[in-house]
Amino acid sequence: MTRRSLLQWLFAAGWPSYAVAADGGGPKIEPLVLADAEWKKRLTNEQYQVLRKHGTERAGTSPLNAEKRRGRYLCAGCDLPLFGAEMKFESGTGWPSFFAFYPGALGTSTDFKLIYPRTEYHCARCEGHHGHVFNDGPAPTGKRYCNNGVALKFEASA
Ligand SMILES: [Zn+2]
Repeated sequence: MTRRSLLQWLFAAGWPSYAVAADGGGPKIEPLVLADAEWKKRLTNEQYQVLRKHGTERAGTSPLNAEKRRGRYLCAGCDLPLFGAEMKFESGTGWPSFFAFYPGALGTSTDFKLIYPRTEYHCARCEGHHGHVFNDGPAPTGKRYCNNGVALKFEASA
């Protein structure tokens, strides 16, 4: 099998074509790669469905929607800090929403699950799916990172 046909096969098989975003050139992040069975052990079923299967939690179900304290939001899969509380805003969507993320913490790819293409984003360390990014966010970035709350862990700062 040539490299080209392998890529075509992977694409046809629904393999996400990760075009990892070089946003800001943050710190070098060591990838965390685990077998599927390991992820099943580490994560709750809800976390697994979102992070490893690109699922979406029901809107309005995450306690993090109402989280207003100072602190950081970590990837529930690998504890990488993704967002700071100062990047969070109330979007009214029922999902925790952010207008920015820590440099290098996220990668993006295009998904075609709905008819129109959307930009999904994932943790740069474990490639766990977190949500989708839209261009209707507030200043200064104009971005809205619409995140599944179950894929995050909140760590309050003192
Ligand atoms: Zn992660």
